Amino acid sequence: MGYKTIVGLEIHVELMTKTKIFCSCTNEFGGEANTHCCPICLGLPGGIPQLNSRVLEYGIKAGLAFNCDIARKTKMDRKNYFYSDLVKGYQISQDDLPLCSNGYIEIELEDGTKKIRLERIHIEEDTGKSVHTETGDTLLDYNRAGVPLIEIVTRPDMNSAEEARLFLEKLRATLKYIEVSDCKMEEGSLRCDININVVDEGTGNRTNITEIKNLNSFRAAVKAMEYEEERHISLLKKGENTVKETRRWDEVQGQTIVMREKGGVADYRYAVDGDILPIEISDEWIKDIEDSLPELPHHKKERFIREYELDEYEAGVLTQSRDIALFFEETLKYIDDTKLVSNWIMGDVLRRLNDEEREIESLNFGAKDLADLLSLIRDGKINNNTGKKVLRDMFETGKDPKTIVKEKGLIQISDEGELEGVIEKVLDENEQSIIDYKNGKDRAIGYLMGQIMKATRGKANPQLVNKMLTEMLKNR
Ligand SMILES: [Zn+2]
Repeated sequence: MGYKTIVGLEIHVELMTKTKIFCSCTNEFGGEANTHCCPICLGLPGGIPQLNSRVLEYGIKAGLAFNCDIARKTKMDRKNYFYSDLVKGYQISQDDLPLCSNGYIEIELEDGTKKIRLERIHIEEDTGKSVHTETGDTLLDYNRAGVPLIEIVTRPDMNSAEEARLFLEKLRATLKYIEVSDCKMEEGSLRCDININVVDEGTGNRTNITEIKNLNSFRAAVKAMEYEEERHISLLKKGENTVKETRRWDEVQGQTIVMREKGGVADYRYAVDGDILPIEISDEWIKDIEDSLPELPHHKKERFIREYELDEYEAGVLTQSRDIALFFEETLKYIDDTKLVSNWIMGDVLRRLNDEEREIESLNFGAKDLADLLSLIRDGKINNNTGKKVLRDMFETGKDPKTIVKEKGLIQISDEGELEGVIEKVLDENEQSIIDYKNGKDRAIGYLMGQIMKATRGKANPQLVNKMLTEMLKNR
């Protein structure tokens, strides 16, 4: 008997509509404070909100992608609470009739697929933003007030930080695939709150749920969950319990910190928003939206396995984001060699992007450039190691590979006459290695290869050198 961790998530996602949810103000991120505002999103008396139908469309898209039931009749409600960034004193959200309900997302675990159920997805407006200055003042920026959101609420179906991470990755990838959000956590367009507690499977005792807020990356979310898991278990071991409270993750201290204690359930005095008519959604509209959905990640993965003869793992890596999949297929348009392209993208390209925590969209070279580089390698113009160096240059300068190879004089030496001279010279200078080789020490050949590559500044054709070297050693 052990301890079982229980995790549920609430995720707020800003939608990429052109305008806000109830007015025609721009939905662009940033901008000078309080310039993307009008009487409606500032909640001034007399402003009448009008629902942007794109918000419904994007919400339905997400619902369909996550296998939800879509409501045919729904409404907008006022959620009352007081906070300075909430202009009207209430937020327009959805209470008992959410747009989407009963969905699920599948995650891949070592022992198979697991379904994480979604309780609901509803649409609502974002609030303004408080900016705390160094002098202790709080300034308010209402550019974000009225930005459309979907809130996705899961069932408590995840049992570890790792499962929650896999869920979030899948959620984000899918939302980007269907182009309803850019999901940039650093800009706040994807925000996640975690509810976590632990059950002692022996005694059945369970801790009170802790809510963790203000996570700005998946990595922080995982660390916060692992920290809380430990904390809950150690309290259970002492026969104690957690306090029902909200905590935040402190990256510097590497721990969660209490923000506030949670009393009973807050009374938001939900009431129908009298300014917005009840919403009716037709079957035809849902059908149209369904038909417009692009290929979803799991379908793309299956197609990649079929069409490009990739294995399960490779197809998973290459379809983890829509942009990686696009880059892969785009590169293949210029060079017809699936194995070579998939190896380089999964290897040197993605490894470096991961190390630098960057997305593939941020590359400063295109699919055609990568294809050109791979053609140079495949055609024997440069060797594999030189190819890696050229790719590093492409990452840094954005120059095309042919220019880099030309400027740096990296063309591979495949001229037998030229190579023969170099090999002769290296052999002359390394009598001992020849003796070692004759005495059956295979390592000697590796050393000689190294010396030849050094003498040609890495440009020698390695297969050719290997062949010639073996021949020439026989005659010594
Ligand atoms: Zn406005």
